Amino acid sequence: MSKVGFVGLGHMGAPMVRRLLKARHKVTVYDVVAEAMNALAADGAEMGTRHSVAADVDAVITMLPAGEDVSDILLSGSGLFFQAQKGTLFIDSSSIDAQTALELAAEAHRAGMELVDAPVSGGVLKAAAGTLTFMVGGTDSQFARAKPILQAMGESIIHAGSSGAGQAAKFCNNMMLGISMIAICEAFTLAREVGLDAKKLFEICALSSSQSWVLTNYHPVPGLVPTSPANNNYQPGFTSRMMFKDLGLSQSAARRVGAYTPLGALATQLYEQFVHSGHSDLDFSAIIKMIGAGKNKPGE
Ligand code: NAD
Repeated sequence: MSKVGFVGLGHMGAPMVRRLLKARHKVTVYDVVAEAMNALAADGAEMGTRHSVAADVDAVITMLPAGEDVSDILLSGSGLFFQAQKGTLFIDSSSIDAQTALELAAEAHRAGMELVDAPVSGGVLKAAAGTLTFMVGGTDSQFARAKPILQAMGESIIHAGSSGAGQAAKFCNNMMLGISMIAICEAFTLAREVGLDAKKLFEICALSSSQSWVLTNYHPVPGLVPTSPANNNYQPGFTSRMMFKDLGLSQSAARRVGAYTPLGALATQLYEQFVHSGHSDLDFSAIIKMIGAGKNKPGE
């Protein structure tokens, strides 16, 4: 049993804390939204503050929206790096850019701490089930320290490489995910327009070469996959804003190293358009509303 501080109790953070509690870790939580803390206190977590969440713990997990949020809480003013006991392990499970992850690992080292980047794949359902995939960037010994804690929340804990490698794996994964989502939205829109029944196409594709995780677990058309946000008015899940952020991370990395990712670039543009037309808080599968609007019909 470890003592864990946990910061960021949103769609992912809250169920991850519940898994840590279930595995009998002692968890102190902090979020800027008080209700998020109250809900977890009722489940056995201790309520912390920005100034107490990292004190007297073995590890601190951050699950925040973006790199600026993580840097802000760890570094700025009396950031958590300067409150924790020397040697505390910081595990950043947010999806952020690999460069910031590298800088934070270096800052942690300067402050006498250790930090691994450990972003996740799996979404809210796997977070609730404790079956996330963690991709971890850090040294062998840091990975060995993080693993027993991550095992309370994940089924697959993979050492991706040195600092920043977890974040690199995550933005590559999410670039593929964003492109796959758009591909499925396009194919099912085309099917609708040519008069092919969505259920039939689903049945065929699930057994054919286009089968994918999005198709069989997260389908954007309502009524095909019970667990899809499509069946719940596209309530997230994983917001379109977050997908746009992650595609942006993939494209900054591609520009930095000169990698050619034309579909990644187009997916980023399409999510940007969707987010900026007032849909940022809908699940990322809701982009089917924009794709399905039929912009290419003759005369339009
Ligand atoms: P979310 O917006 O639901 O939750 C973020 C939480 O952080 C909120 O409760 C917010 O109040 C809190 N917060 C923000 N700034 C804070 C601060 N300075 N101090 C304390 N709390 C603060 O986001 P989420 O969907 O849980 O995603 C979190 C991270 O996980 C993101 O980086 C996202 O890209 C990644 N992720 C999400 C999913 C998913 O399916 N939702 C899947 C994999 C990875």
